[in-house]
Amino acid sequence: MEYISTRGLAPRTDSLHALLHGLAPDGGLYVPAEPLAPLTPGEDFRATMEALLERFFGEIPEPVRKDAVAKSLARFRAPEVVPLKEGGGVSFLELFHGPTYAFKDVALTLLPHLMAYAAQAAGVGRVCVLTATSGDTGSAAMQGFADVPDTSVLVFYPKVGTSEIQRRQMVCCPGGNVSACAIKGNFDDAQAAVKAAFADAALAARAKAAGCLLSSANSINIGRLFPQICYYLDCARRIGGPFDVVVPTGNFGNILAAHYAWQLGAPIGRLAVASNANRVVCDFVRTGRYDAHREFRITNSPSMDILVSSNVERLLWLLTKGNDVEVRTWESQLKAEGAFQIGGYALHDLKERFAAGWATPEETETAIADLWRESRYLADPHTAIGWKVARELPPTGRPTVVAATASPWKFPVTMLRALTGKTVADEFAAAGELAAITGQMPALADLRSAPILHEAVTARDAVPEAICRTFGF
Ligand SMILES: *Cc1c(COP(=O)(O)O)cnc(C)c1O
Repeated sequence: MEYISTRGLAPRTDSLHALLHGLAPDGGLYVPAEPLAPLTPGEDFRATMEALLERFFGEIPEPVRKDAVAKSLARFRAPEVVPLKEGGGVSFLELFHGPTYAFKDVALTLLPHLMAYAAQAAGVGRVCVLTATSGDTGSAAMQGFADVPDTSVLVFYPKVGTSEIQRRQMVCCPGGNVSACAIKGNFDDAQAAVKAAFADAALAARAKAAGCLLSSANSINIGRLFPQICYYLDCARRIGGPFDVVVPTGNFGNILAAHYAWQLGAPIGRLAVASNANRVVCDFVRTGRYDAHREFRITNSPSMDILVSSNVERLLWLLTKGNDVEVRTWESQLKAEGAFQIGGYALHDLKERFAAGWATPEETETAIADLWRESRYLADPHTAIGWKVARELPPTGRPTVVAATASPWKFPVTMLRALTGKTVADEFAAAGELAAITGQMPALADLRSAPILHEAVTARDAVPEAICRTFGF
């Protein structure tokens, strides 16, 4: 498979280069250069993942790919990897049985092994991954890269903004090659500092002199996106007929993987975006206008608190059948004015292919409570929004699958408030009460007494020094 940039101004490249560099040099995202031929799911999740990796990462030798899949799957607690559970008139595709209890584990337990091979093939001594996180990505990257040879990870998280469980998942994560550092500021400060580090020529030179390459593990990387197709293909095998899908959406990576699964032959009928109060993508699907120029809201589904969804650029490229001139125009309007409007056949195809809905924080808690009362299914806030949207869309006669993106035990304070109306500020105490009233086993409780391994805190201005110190440049 060869890859080209959505902006059309970068050379064609192979999967190894795209894996290592993430973003194309023209600022675009890598997409497959050729239309996708159908892919038949294998007999189980593992076989389907192996087939996908062969298709999308064919430059990596087969034994390396198989070994990566085996190592990734060994980190999952469920034998079927992503179980399907019934509740509230839909099926929940539970994507959260990996090490950090969110769907990002599916790709992030695999990507480090693919990157390590790509680095070796490119003669790079070590890949040094830098990531800014508002919560779930940081711990999933640390768990995924922990003790993978020739890789290191440094995660910057905001000193205020993550939940206590999310923070502990990072600062207590073992592994000699992984670190987390708090930034004095919010998520935007962390993100801006990491972006500035990637643009810092002096830093890149110091990395190179030390035989290292600075890279990132965010969801624009093809190694994050394409492995996610696997669970939609595997779900299609188990359902055995046409079905609709609803995906709680932030950066548009997960739902784009479902769209690719459909292109590869999965019989997905309607594909629906579920947004929280930061409903930029929901509005875009309904009107064709992408407008990020609005107030940023902090919600109880924090992993979807985002206004600029990077993977929408890949969707624009697909909708225009690879018209990079149009993609560049929209992206420059987004940068200059915070908004753009699509029209014509692209808008027609967008509306034909996607549906959308959203929920306020209050509606999210109502949905959690309704679903629990109706079917005794405990859905985390993100998943509950997906269920609410599924219920509100016009029926199609097909079964609906809601992507269950995180475990409810990651968000015990919201879960308890939704079920009882009571706010218990301490997350571990809230988890204890939630376990008592639901009769379910709490997950992540051992984090409460886990040793703190990463205590670094840095000012935004001192981020380059923190990077050099951590990676030993
Ligand atoms: C990351 C995340 C999302 C958003 O997924 P995207 O691929 O960015 O759209 C939704 N729910 C949870 C729990 C997440 O961690």
